[in-house]
Amino acid sequence: MENLLRSKPKLVVLTGAGISAESGLSTFRGTGGMWEGNKIEDVATPEAWRRNPIRVLEFYNQRRAQLPLVNANEAHILLKKLEAFYDVHIITQNVDDLHERSQSSNILHLHGELVKVRSELNDYIILDWGYKPLNWGDKGPDGAQLRPHVVWFGEAVPAMFKAESISSQADILVVIGTSLQVYPAANLIYTAPSHAEIWYIDPQPATITGLKKLHVLPQKATTGMKELYQILTSKCNPDER
Ligand code: NAD
Repeated sequence: MENLLRSKPKLVVLTGAGISAESGLSTFRGTGGMWEGNKIEDVATPEAWRRNPIRVLEFYNQRRAQLPLVNANEAHILLKKLEAFYDVHIITQNVDDLHERSQSSNILHLHGELVKVRSELNDYIILDWGYKPLNWGDKGPDGAQLRPHVVWFGEAVPAMFKAESISSQADILVVIGTSLQVYPAANLIYTAPSHAEIWYIDPQPATITGLKKLHVLPQKATTGMKELYQILTSKCNPDER
């Protein structure tokens, strides 16, 4: 009876572009600050949208068109499997849909989603768009041009408040495949409680200071997640409550 009432420990996961690298989606820090050969300021800022919206639409159309050609990898899948042992909450900086496709239950997108678009005038008008291209002249129900539902550099991150609230309740924080160069997302690692163990999987991990319970696994996401899955599940039975 006591077992039935005890809740699972809360495992919060912060993912970045690196978790999707082995699925075939490129990161951008790894390629010298360019995202698929494009400068960030040409394709992922509000100024770029005002200057040349067709180029911005084309860039995100290419990113969206890649999605049905790739699959979730073992790292995404093991995060889903951890739900048998932990109350898993994923906070992702990624705009891809690979956590959804590996069927994780709790996913918060900090920087938006490629498969959604929104009105450029009314940001509460958000539409499911799927994998099809978004074109200049595609309008929302308010008659305004639709734009990618992504947070561009220089824009506010509306999901940050919720992300901080989730992270502040973590018993364990797992950070995977992020250079921790993009703010405010990078600050999330400091919002976990001091008792929380922090695991960081990245083949080229950023230098992190000031966290006592930090363990770094300098590995690719799939290798690191296999090792961490063993560590995190060795102590508990599935669906132990
Ligand atoms: P980043 O490109 O700045 O850093 C990627 C990190 O992944 C690096 O630290 C690198 O060492 C690591 N990495 C590379 N290969 C890896 C692997 N196989 N396994 C694990 N880690 C690996 O990415 P970021 O910190 O997420 O910030 C980039 C921003 O660009 C994000 O906000 C995101 O929205 C956007 N972005 C998203 C995608 C995507 O949705 N898949 C792809 C590129 C960029």
